[in-house]
Amino acid sequence: MVELEGTKLSEKEIETLPGVIYYKPFTRYKFTAGYAVSVFLEGLKRGKIVGSICRRCGRVYVPPRSYCEYCLKPTDEFIELPDRGEISTAVISYISAKRGRLEKPEFVGVIRLETPGYREGSYEFAGLFHKICGITEEDVKTGKAIGMKVKARWRPPEERAGSILDIECFEPIGGGED
Ligand SMILES: [Zn+2]
Repeated sequence: MVELEGTKLSEKEIETLPGVIYYKPFTRYKFTAGYAVSVFLEGLKRGKIVGSICRRCGRVYVPPRSYCEYCLKPTDEFIELPDRGEISTAVISYISAKRGRLEKPEFVGVIRLETPGYREGSYEFAGLFHKICGITEEDVKTGKAIGMKVKARWRPPEERAGSILDIECFEPIGGGED
């Protein structure tokens, strides 16, 4: 390190130097969900899962998209889907949504919703990523959770805010502990 000439200033002196301004910006952010996802979030508030469909190829998108990436054209309409499906992936998480350590783990995974009345395999996408309740660590470790039929556990209507968390979690059909 090179010793520079001059008088070294302490942190305190720097803070009190004229012309030094300490400024903490106060910033707020707004996120726009876009048209299709807004329709999805409005649907959740009403206790409905809304997707969109491309009539040309029959693909169903949940959450909805306004554009079919296979046909390169706008999707045709919004459709309501059942609030049930099956677990396609599940993991045991010891980390909370706020990144803290959890004593009691949570289960999260991807739920593939049912698409009755639409062509087989119309819902090709990974599905909804959400919390899963009513399953055990054993279910996940042994792979028993995969393919399990689950249903959305909705928050009471007055608590819904148009958020993905209007669904508390997906739980096995027929109930479960938790
Ligand atoms: Zn299409």
